[in-house]
Amino acid sequence: MSSTLRFTVVGEAFKKKPVEVPTPVERPSEYFGKYVFDRKKMYKYLPAPVYEKMIDVIDNGAALDMATADAVAEGMKRWAVELGVTHITHWFQPLTEGTAEKHDGFVEHDGKGGMVEEFTGKQLVQQEPDASSFPSGGIRSTFEARGYSAWDPASPVFVLGDTLMIPTVFISYTGEALDYKAPLKKALHAVNKAATDVARYFYPDVKKVISNLGWEQEYFLVDESLYSARPDLLMTGRTLMGHDSAKNQQMDDHYFGAIPERVVAFMRDLEIQALELGIPCKTRHNEVAPNQFELAPIFEETNLAVDHNMLMMSTMKRVARKHGFRCLLHEKPFAGVNGSGKHNNWSLATDTGILLHAPGKTPLDNLRFVTFIVETLMAVYRHNGLLKASIVSATNAHRLGANEAPPAIISSFLGKQLNDLLDHLTNTTDDQISLAGKQEMHLDIPQIPELLIDNTDRNRTSPFAFTGNRFEFRAVGSEANCASAMIALNAAVAEALIDFKKRVDERRLTPDSSRDSLFNAILSVLREDIRTCRPILFDGNGYSDEWKVEAKKRGLDTEASVPLVIDRYLDDASVKMFARTNVFTRAELNARNEIKWETYTKKIQIEARIFGDLCMNHIIPVAICYQSQLIDNVHKLKEILPSEQADKLSATNMHLIEEISLHSSFITENVGRLIEARRVANRISDEREKAIAYHDTVAPLMEQIRYHVDKLELIVDDELWPLPKYRELLFIR
Ligand code: ADP
Ligand code: MG
Repeated sequence: MSSTLRFTVVGEAFKKKPVEVPTPVERPSEYFGKYVFDRKKMYKYLPAPVYEKMIDVIDNGAALDMATADAVAEGMKRWAVELGVTHITHWFQPLTEGTAEKHDGFVEHDGKGGMVEEFTGKQLVQQEPDASSFPSGGIRSTFEARGYSAWDPASPVFVLGDTLMIPTVFISYTGEALDYKAPLKKALHAVNKAATDVARYFYPDVKKVISNLGWEQEYFLVDESLYSARPDLLMTGRTLMGHDSAKNQQMDDHYFGAIPERVVAFMRDLEIQALELGIPCKTRHNEVAPNQFELAPIFEETNLAVDHNMLMMSTMKRVARKHGFRCLLHEKPFAGVNGSGKHNNWSLATDTGILLHAPGKTPLDNLRFVTFIVETLMAVYRHNGLLKASIVSATNAHRLGANEAPPAIISSFLGKQLNDLLDHLTNTTDDQISLAGKQEMHLDIPQIPELLIDNTDRNRTSPFAFTGNRFEFRAVGSEANCASAMIALNAAVAEALIDFKKRVDERRLTPDSSRDSLFNAILSVLREDIRTCRPILFDGNGYSDEWKVEAKKRGLDTEASVPLVIDRYLDDASVKMFARTNVFTRAELNARNEIKWETYTKKIQIEARIFGDLCMNHIIPVAICYQSQLIDNVHKLKEILPSEQADKLSATNMHLIEEISLHSSFITENVGRLIEARRVANRISDEREKAIAYHDTVAPLMEQIRYHVDKLELIVDDELWPLPKYRELLFIR
């Protein structure tokens, strides 16, 4: 881009006016789910017996027969055609980013030379996308068996534009998961089973336990014209160079501040569209960094919440463009200001409406509360390295361990009251339990004030914080599919609960009759577990260097290199846990790790390529151009002035000329080394080793070179500088 173009682009960006968003005539409660084939629509469009059958399939996981599938497809088609739908697609979550889809028209020959709209149960239930180029980590070689997608009836189909979208799992012909949804459903099944068994100790009528997820999506908006003028943003989602803006977030004036008009228009439009798609949006606000915002819906069942997050991310990108913005979901689009995360608020609840991670009113409720808290902590303790592996990526790495974000060590914050309660429990003995009458239980658990719910003081540095009635897994990246974290967490908690139950049952004296014996057994296992998982509890400052030392002493995983953190999936403890919970086989874990390493490499590789191009084609030429102007000026001074005076007056210029030379030669030389480092890494065939090479040799070089580019930005004439600067990118007018 030429310098005049930069100014035109910036000028245009600042002239933009908000896009008019028509106010719907209906209220949100009326248009919520307008484009979703939800229960209300099922009731309307399906024959009564088919409706009953579908509810059984959705609520109880009953098997779906072809006749029902055909009838459901027929009802869906009637509804969809009324909305102008012409195509269907299976919508799935491959191991790349985002979602994938392949559209088929509704039309079929009618046998009389014309066409009819046709949509059968078979098309609804299964599709074989030509998916040979989706990553499979070697499970499904291109010439071998194909992968297929299969309908997930637990997530309702919806309409997007002219297409009926069918949420599906994506698996290989031999049954291995090639996506996020299939293992997520298995993990949710495992935690349901394990948690139901334990919940029944307290409430015998519980039939099922639901995992809840409420995500908080952070994002940046930049003006589309400025975005287009930054090849690095365009290709990698982040700026690879750019000096700090004089003003960024130091005044904290953006956080919870008034939202700019253009952004409000975008948010309103986005919320209306999200609500129509059945996503229960609730909260919106400015975030800490300039141009950074957050959006959060009301929590939902985890499988549905994950689908809704995926749909939300694509909707955000789409709606942003309509408003002349680009929505950046990258974890760290700009250096020097906060990055974006996606807090995963997670809890378990029974079908009878009990939030298992919330304290209750009776001693029985509170014993249940402590049980689920402690066993969650046991899972996090045992698998802290794995949980970290579930959230790392090339992009999230810029955020973890940096000063504004969760550290690269998983620990849990409970707050003083809950800590005291756990201490108290470990100090009591069994005979402090007694039963008076049949139902009344006396348990030496101090009354937990309901205030606890609002009183969990907010330790912002904890990656896994208890926040009153749930845990908040804060290390998840803004761009990530939440399923990755939710698979690891729910499966690990399932395993902890299975172990817990096994030990409780062994310790009960009379398994069927005495509640005293049951509660004593529960307490004794809990005491043991509280002691075991203590190292995971940390209420201090997670950003401090002392914590890194201390965490290492406690045996927590402190590795920060992404390719090495990914190894944790293949630890014996992880492989065993995933096998016991039936979530992943070792073969699947191996294959998925290959993909993770490969993805890591590709991300850094693309960054390094575009970075090298920018340096050599954008930065160095303007630096030289400006340097020549300075040299020219020195010559001219010498022409018109006596030499002593000329020397004096050109001293500053001479200094700048020298500076530019130093920075430019550093950049040129090291871009050469960067290319060489890539060449060396590319020759490595082992995916893990290659990723390590990219991490150790390629990524650090970019950081070093960037420093010099950013210095040049401060020296070179603003009119020549080819890329929109941070101060232009970060402030929407
Ligand atoms: P914060 O103060 O952290 O921003 P919010 O109250 O805005 O928290 O809630 C963040 C998310 O947590 C929302 O999606 C909310 O619905 C969800 N949430 C609240 N309670 C629970 C719970 N028990 N389990 C899971 N998610 C929950
Ligand atoms: Mg939160």
